[in-house]
Amino acid sequence: MWDHSRLLYLSRRLSLVESVRYWHCQANRPTLPFVPTCSGACPEDVEQLKRYVQQCQRLFVITGAGISTESGIPDYRSEHVGLFARTQRRPVEHGMFVRSARMRQSYWARSFTGWTSFLRHLPNAAHLALSHWERAGRLHWLVTQNVDALHRKSGSLRCTELHGCLYLVICLNCGQVTHREQLQKRMVVMNPHWQVDALEVAPDGDVLLSESQVENFRVPACLACEGILKPQVTFFGDNVDRATVAFLYKKLAESDGILIAGSSLQVYSAYRFVREAHDQGLPIAILNIGPTRANTLAMLTINARCGDVLPLALDI
Ligand SMILES: [Zn+2]
Repeated sequence: MWDHSRLLYLSRRLSLVESVRYWHCQANRPTLPFVPTCSGACPEDVEQLKRYVQQCQRLFVITGAGISTESGIPDYRSEHVGLFARTQRRPVEHGMFVRSARMRQSYWARSFTGWTSFLRHLPNAAHLALSHWERAGRLHWLVTQNVDALHRKSGSLRCTELHGCLYLVICLNCGQVTHREQLQKRMVVMNPHWQVDALEVAPDGDVLLSESQVENFRVPACLACEGILKPQVTFFGDNVDRATVAFLYKKLAESDGILIAGSSLQVYSAYRFVREAHDQGLPIAILNIGPTRANTLAMLTINARCGDVLPLALDI
């Protein structure tokens, strides 16, 4: 079994080529049902990206759900395979979560059910490539829209999780932050007879359950003040913390190029950094399956899988 600690060990000790080859050889490599079809990268694309990455000494990288589809986590917006295309499921809305006890009960029941399979997702060749770039001193800063912690699991340290991370929980009353794993244990104790099958886990760890399935689920409160608990992620309709945005603008100003990998940039919280890069005259490259909101701003756009291209883009 390819577990997290083994993955970290390998990604830190093997060369990029070796660890990516190892990843591709794993018998339990995830299948790719959530990766949109594309013709694949042509050698010219790879060469162009190589030249681009070689020219940038302080690269600012933005990643989105498209980088994690190769780890078996569906995105929202891709044609045919994204959650919006295949299901009626929509992301949790912040205001509804705060206002509605019923919504929170439903959210935590679904999150509780999907947690174990969510934990099983592992970084893929694209995550590994970016963590190697960082260790080689070629990646100035990485910002991800994903809440799956796969960059962290691959060893990336110069990384900001723009929308938070599902591995932490915050109390909306006293602000205490605790580990999601602890909450899972509490929910197991509070719901000893709870058992339903999760069908599919969304990027935000959500699964699909019916109203009748969640009505008896007992929701834990904050142990310090009995306040409402929320995953420490930015739900739709909420804003990213201002200090985080200011910090990332600073990192962007220190950079000499920007690369977007696996994001259509439909969400403004990440798109603003691409606009800013454009206003500063920084070169912009995009690697994504399908069009993005910033294609007209980019000097290079590649329509291919991140895991196929990123490991080849820098000889280390
Ligand atoms: Zn509290």
